[in-house]
Amino acid sequence: MSDILIQNPLIINEGISFRGDVLVSDEIISAVALPGQIEVPEKTGKLDASGLILIPGVIDDHVHFREPGLSHKGDIFTETRAAVAGGITSFMDMPNTVPQTISNRDLEHKFRIGSEKSLINYSFYIGATENNLDEIMNTDPARVCGIKLFMGASTGNMLVSNENSLRELFKKALIPLAVHCEDETTIRRNTESFRKKYGDDIPMAMHPLIRSRDACFKSSSLAVRLAREYNTRLHVLHLSTADEMKLFSSGKTIEEKRITGEACVHHLWFDDSDYEKLGSKIRWNPAIKTIFDRKALTEALNSDVIDVIGTDHAPHTLEEKSGVYLESPSGAPMVQHSLTAMLELWHRKIFSLEKIVEKMCHNPAVLFNISKRGFIREGYKADLVLIDPDHEWMVSENNILYKCGWSPFEGLAFRSKVVKTFVNGNLVYNYGEINNDHRGRALSFDR
Ligand SMILES: [Zn+2]
Repeated sequence: MSDILIQNPLIINEGISFRGDVLVSDEIISAVALPGQIEVPEKTGKLDASGLILIPGVIDDHVHFREPGLSHKGDIFTETRAAVAGGITSFMDMPNTVPQTISNRDLEHKFRIGSEKSLINYSFYIGATENNLDEIMNTDPARVCGIKLFMGASTGNMLVSNENSLRELFKKALIPLAVHCEDETTIRRNTESFRKKYGDDIPMAMHPLIRSRDACFKSSSLAVRLAREYNTRLHVLHLSTADEMKLFSSGKTIEEKRITGEACVHHLWFDDSDYEKLGSKIRWNPAIKTIFDRKALTEALNSDVIDVIGTDHAPHTLEEKSGVYLESPSGAPMVQHSLTAMLELWHRKIFSLEKIVEKMCHNPAVLFNISKRGFIREGYKADLVLIDPDHEWMVSENNILYKCGWSPFEGLAFRSKVVKTFVNGNLVYNYGEINNDHRGRALSFDR
């Protein structure tokens, strides 16, 4: 692989922006300096990036790429193609596949699929059940990103409700414990009362009243309480309500925090006024709630009360999504459009570019102790994204890359565009062209 000098982009990194040059040698960022200051070896390729923005590759800490077992919805090859087109260079995948990823054997199987099919870098969560603590304790902390726990207080395999099992897990977890917090008992009660009123065809707009703010708070406050008690490294996923923001604090740096929170792009973009037009396409768990909640999440990111922006990318086919309320699944595809949507919120002056980079690139790396990624620093892996901030385009059927073939953003125009994505120094996405032969690497963690 030859060296390449990326010349004169606006570099957004570590809270500042400046024009500079970046030299990539093999897989590594070998120099970062003001324009014209880097002495380049002979035969170095030059890329004029004037007018473009350069950021570290996005690290998505929360995806469901559906493989193995659910690959009619998406698979690691198709969804990483979409991800790299969206500026994502690393992902962490959730365990609710078929089979569920709840043992080290299941994990090894997924790592093998990753090495064979993923265009970008990868790691996989191990799922917590009532009785797999031994497997969890035996995972390799340098390879496995974290433990996924569904804190629903109910029965069923991946829901851990037994208080003793929960306490053991919070006490012993050696790697970050990432939790989905919604109280299942509350949800079941709400579902029953709406079903009595509407039958199976409950209007989609009732979704946030069924998967209610109370269900969220009841579960997330329990998670935070247990984490405080045991000093657990807790990461609360897809926060969706204003009420939950008071469980988190802004007083510490991301390196110091033991309890961190994730917001997802859809909770920052949509609110309950969108159900009428988009219906099940914006049905997620936890549900999209009110404009008041959306603004509280935005504010909490800007004031560093919460720490990471992920996607919860969770594709389903349109056919699956078209069923009546009680038969249609929650989740939607997002990785191709998450960064671009956040950049649109920059155009609207809701987030700064520095804040977007902090929450999507730097913080996931710091929070999970990812080795040498997430920053534009000398000696770090060359995961880099070039963005044209002034390139309007529309999301449409013919440019959607997800296997499921649809997006909740369809028909929407974005003002900026990801134009090039480098993964480990290789140009994998280039103005619409994808190098389908590139394979990413397993992430490694300094722990
Ligand atoms: Zn999820």
